[in-house]
Amino acid sequence: MYDEYNRANYELIQKTSPIVGGLIQKEFERQSNNIELIASENYCSEAVLAACGSCLSWKYAEGYPSGRPTGNNGRYYGGCEIVDQIEQYCCEVWQKVFDTDYHVNVQPHSGSQANFAAYKALLNVGDTILSFDLDHGGHLTHGSSVNFSGNLYHMEFYDVNEEGYIDMESVRKKALECHPKLILTGASAYSRIIDFKAFSEIAKEVGAYFMVDMAHIAGLVAGGVHPSPFGYADIVTTTTHKTLRGPRGGLIFAKPIEVDGKPLHKRVDSAVFPYAQGGPLEHIIAAKAVCAEEALRPEFKDYAKKVVENCAALCDEFLKLGYKVVTGGTDNHLILLDLSDEPFSGKVLQERCDERGITLNKNCVPNEKRSPMQTSGVRIGTAAMTTRGYEADDFRAAVRKIDAIIKELREEYKDK
Ligand code: PLP
Repeated sequence: MYDEYNRANYELIQKTSPIVGGLIQKEFERQSNNIELIASENYCSEAVLAACGSCLSWKYAEGYPSGRPTGNNGRYYGGCEIVDQIEQYCCEVWQKVFDTDYHVNVQPHSGSQANFAAYKALLNVGDTILSFDLDHGGHLTHGSSVNFSGNLYHMEFYDVNEEGYIDMESVRKKALECHPKLILTGASAYSRIIDFKAFSEIAKEVGAYFMVDMAHIAGLVAGGVHPSPFGYADIVTTTTHKTLRGPRGGLIFAKPIEVDGKPLHKRVDSAVFPYAQGGPLEHIIAAKAVCAEEALRPEFKDYAKKVVENCAALCDEFLKLGYKVVTGGTDNHLILLDLSDEPFSGKVLQERCDERGITLNKNCVPNEKRSPMQTSGVRIGTAAMTTRGYEADDFRAAVRKIDAIIKELREEYKDK
């Protein structure tokens, strides 16, 4: 499907830079030939790619479209009448995707930028955030000490129980102890349904704001196979390039509430621009709008359902072969294969899989004993290969290939 598109691009780039053109071609071949099991990756459509490569890339448009309900109106440049329409349309179509009246900001360049701005809109530096521990499945921007989040805010963490599930009793206990200003949920490596209602009730009980970073599962929410955070969360952030299958980028949705006497949506807009970013990427915003239209189609619902079904099949095959999977199963697009009892690390398995044309990534497991650079697990997802047409049996076959690699490594490491 992408061959002709890629060839045309390659020929254009090759004329100016044979080196860059050649490397892009190689990467295209790697992505086309490998079994791509990285849970955060996907293949977007040619329409999305074309919007990313369009003339909109040339346009400066600092500010917001005029007529924006927040009062954050107007641009700092002339010639914005068309990009205004694109950005306005993009916001409207995302509201339709999630069937929400939340205010939408489509300018964040990435998920990290979206989270940066969301915290800024809700918090003051030094405020307490109660969030999901990175080692248990959270993200760097959820309070890691090497990230802005762990430096600007006081972090407290909840974690998973013995079975690997988010423990709502421990979330409540922690919240009552630390009185956070914000409770945050969402994950990069969590394979179960997240109970947004239960989180919002705890937030209400302790007087905290509630934020959901649904970056990983947004496509499943849009496709109706994961419960929606809308109605529960004060702010929802997401990326558009994972299960949503769009361009690389972020989105912020804000509930119509007031924070410190000012509408939250106004605070979000000014936290994105001018606080966190400069000129918006209007080509990416156009691609986000195309992605949203795709997500509204009935085929997208079929896709999301298939991603989850395929993941269940992949998980089942690992379990049949005797492997340990964190929580013993999955409700979404990913699993965490637990290698704690193996003589080799997640890193070793990742590297051997790379050599055999299978792309996945090392990942910490709950109660991790190895270092984050080694890890005792790998994360495996089905979103990308489902886009490429993989069915349940294809995923089962991929598991058997990984099983053969693991058996080979067991032999190699048995005396080490
Ligand atoms: N939030 C979550 C839950 C993620 O998994 C990620 C990326 O992996 C991000 C935020 C950050 O997104 P980005 O890489 O676009 O900054």
